[in-house]
Amino acid sequence: MVSRVIPVESFDLVIFGGTGDLARRKILPGLYRRFCAGQMPEGARVIGAARADHTDDEFRKLVADSIKEFVPAGRRDAATIKDFAERLHYVSIDARGDKGWSALAKLVRKDVIQAFYFSVGPGLFGDIATRLHKHKLAGNEARIVVEKPFGRDLESAKALNAVLADSFDENQIYRIDHYLGKETVQNLMAVRFANVLFEPLWNAQYIDHVQITVAETVSVEGRGAYYDKSGAMRDMVQNHLMQLLCLTAMEPPSKFDPDAVRDEKLKVIRALDPVPAENIVRGQYGADKDGDSYIAHSENPASKTESFIALKVDISNWRWKGTPFYLRTGKRLKARMSEIIVHFKETPHSIFEEDAGSHANVLTIRLQPDEGMDLRVTIKEPGPGGMRLVDVPLDMTFADALGPDAEDVPDAYERLIMDVIRGNQTLFMRGDEVEAAWSWTDPIIEGWQQRGDQPKTYEPGSSGPEDALMLLHRDARRWREIRK
Ligand code: NAD
Repeated sequence: MVSRVIPVESFDLVIFGGTGDLARRKILPGLYRRFCAGQMPEGARVIGAARADHTDDEFRKLVADSIKEFVPAGRRDAATIKDFAERLHYVSIDARGDKGWSALAKLVRKDVIQAFYFSVGPGLFGDIATRLHKHKLAGNEARIVVEKPFGRDLESAKALNAVLADSFDENQIYRIDHYLGKETVQNLMAVRFANVLFEPLWNAQYIDHVQITVAETVSVEGRGAYYDKSGAMRDMVQNHLMQLLCLTAMEPPSKFDPDAVRDEKLKVIRALDPVPAENIVRGQYGADKDGDSYIAHSENPASKTESFIALKVDISNWRWKGTPFYLRTGKRLKARMSEIIVHFKETPHSIFEEDAGSHANVLTIRLQPDEGMDLRVTIKEPGPGGMRLVDVPLDMTFADALGPDAEDVPDAYERLIMDVIRGNQTLFMRGDEVEAAWSWTDPIIEGWQQRGDQPKTYEPGSSGPEDALMLLHRDARRWREIRK
């Protein structure tokens, strides 16, 4: 299998925050990989715009260093880094003042695709949009890419949507959720909508429940102050887990087109039931043997912010009534693992002896560490000894299926940036979708604030608080183990 590179037109991509962590770790190395894949046409340029004073050459050096740090040795070489560096420019700019804007206006061309990536703190999104407009930098076809977090509640998200709408049309705004750029997430749509096998069974009649887990091993180290105002619900559930839930639960769109897909996702969000207190488990990691705890990184020693959350979510529509979606995410857990598990029901009647055991098909969609899917099917255990049943995986690990080309599968950021250049919004969130997600999230947060709920302490390196296990046990179900 050879990855196909779709040509794009020439572009100027301005990265506000081009010297920041996200730009250095993901965006610029990703662009380099696309350059190596031949997807940066003649004349296409990347312009870093950030607060620090740098010359073009200093910025090129910074980017070359980032590529050396974040692109594996076998996939880079000095010659292509040098060629890529020639496409790079830099403007020192103040998002809140006038500095740098006329220089940027002179540099950015009007006759190519213009894309402006807001890789800066969310407090600057509005300032940058307004100044782009004021300085007449962005043409009618220009695209802006907005990072997360998109607001911290419905009110702030609405305000941000309104500020962006003052300068840009909705079809110019790309609200990024990098989970949507993952190969497996898109494969979830392919599996559902390009096969006849799954869709007829994809409903409450055949699916017992769905689990969505995004487990991280990292702590909040370095982001304590930000995280304390956010927490797992705002930082992860409102965006990433909700998006995964939507793609799993949505009706088939009439076509794979941005508004058709986003209309269906929106309908799912609107059908989510409010979540009662007994269906929410919040946790905060305690101290490890070195005394490192959540509180150690917080400015508030009595912080009630959750670094873990598990929720049982019900969807009130014909397809899903009675099939819960269990969501869970947290930091300092046992392993880094993200997956969606679709747990089918057992057969309505077993024709086999009781000791054949009970079996159910399980479809696992793994986002990380090794992207892929597997479907567990029940077969007869080989050999003599009667009809003993055993579950075996039909495995589709991309690295195996695609061989050496698997490494050429673009990373989520690479793919999404190229979608921006192509003008394809399918994998980006629409304004009404983000607002609907906050409308569902806000009352849940207000609920625990009003009740004064304390998060349960959990051991670092564990699977989260005991109560999260109980959330499924009481429904006679079990979480898939968090494992490497
Ligand atoms: P960072 O603090 O490392 O970088 C911020 C950048 O913004 C720097 O280049 C800085 O020069 C620039 N900047 C700050 N104030 C400015 C001003 N007044 N005018 C012009 N430039 C200014 O931040 P980051 O981690 O790169 O995050 C950037 C955005 O991406 C944030 O919205 C963050 O929430 C989001 N994000 C980051 C990550 C990540 O892994 N770092 C992941 C997901 C989302």
